[in-house]
Amino acid sequence: MSERYDTVVNREQELFMPGVRRWPLVLVRGEGSRIWDADGTEYIDLMAGWGVNCLGHAHPGLADAISDQARTLMQTTNAVYSEPQLDLAKRLADIMPASIHRAFFISSGAEANEGALKLAHRSTGRKRYVATINSFHGRTLGAMSVLGQQKYRDRWSDILIENTFVPYGDLAAAKAALGDDVAAMILEPVQGEGGVVIPPEGYLVALASACHEVGALLILDEVQTCIGRTGRWMAMEHSGVEPDIVTLGKGIGGGVPLAAFMATDAVMSSIEPGDHGGTYAGNLLACRAGATVLRVIREEGLVERAAQLGDHVIERFEALAARCPDKVEEVRGAGLLVGLVLRDAAFAAEMHPKTRDRGVLVNLTADRVVRIFPALNIPQDQLDQGLDVIDKLVEAG
Ligand code: PMP
Repeated sequence: MSERYDTVVNREQELFMPGVRRWPLVLVRGEGSRIWDADGTEYIDLMAGWGVNCLGHAHPGLADAISDQARTLMQTTNAVYSEPQLDLAKRLADIMPASIHRAFFISSGAEANEGALKLAHRSTGRKRYVATINSFHGRTLGAMSVLGQQKYRDRWSDILIENTFVPYGDLAAAKAALGDDVAAMILEPVQGEGGVVIPPEGYLVALASACHEVGALLILDEVQTCIGRTGRWMAMEHSGVEPDIVTLGKGIGGGVPLAAFMATDAVMSSIEPGDHGGTYAGNLLACRAGATVLRVIREEGLVERAAQLGDHVIERFEALAARCPDKVEEVRGAGLLVGLVLRDAAFAAEMHPKTRDRGVLVNLTADRVVRIFPALNIPQDQLDQGLDVIDKLVEAG
């Protein structure tokens, strides 16, 4: 490792909160789906900052829009009207079901879910939530209260709100947990962090009906799956489910911290001025970035592209699974959110750093799922180069 790397690592050990597990890597520059470390080594980026950089790194149109907004007006106060917020809200309303056209903007997915949980309480007057085992919704207290993974909850369980967890995809269990004291059921349309888990056919639509039968709301957490990631503008389109509240994050800012929650008129009408807010709610720079991301995705046909490239990734992984059935258990995915499920967590843990050594950045989640979620505009040759490395490592293992 270089002197520059050593300096960064040493200074960080002195200056940062401990508790973040870092890879031995200092990344300094990116362009599209390629990224370079402090030593000048190039990597193909198949994880795009946890699925955030949907237009790739240093996208010229996005960079120009951000720079222009920074030179014009970056932040005011949510107490005044603003055009960038409105532009973003309109573009989001255009891709949502007609029933959902009101938005609120904040900075992170966890905050979006906090807002959604508060909104469900305000709208129903109830305070129990049903969530799914293996889910991920963020690290704030409300979001963690509906996060269904023990490894994140364990050390904080004393201060979390009590809720009911049911297995993902199990309609009967959800129905049994729902009741007239439930404000909402919250879940992801595809469990991302939980290992790219796709729900059974008909599950989400039936769940919406089950919620409504008892007067509860359905909150769909599309923080990871929104704006093209799964090969549709929103993952809800795969099933046709219409939630009462939807949360968005990650990709919508293209790398600038931006998230949103949106809801039906009926739900939003329960909110009164002063009920919710935030210093950065609707930050102009973030909203301008978001509107630009949506415009570029539309102009460049990146939703369709994500669907096509995603099918290609799945095909390649299925071929790999056929060649190495002893190593690969399953391939799961939708659009450019694909999981290669390995059989053995120890093998996965051993293989993962080797992908990096061979110039590919890829995420390992749920212990043994190689998760691919690159920029939606990744050139196919770069994608294939990255997949070649994964192929070889699995074959050799
Ligand atoms: N919901 C989902 C489905 C997520 O995948 C994530 C982040 N992985 C979050 C919420 C939390 O988002 P953030 O980290 O921006 O708070």
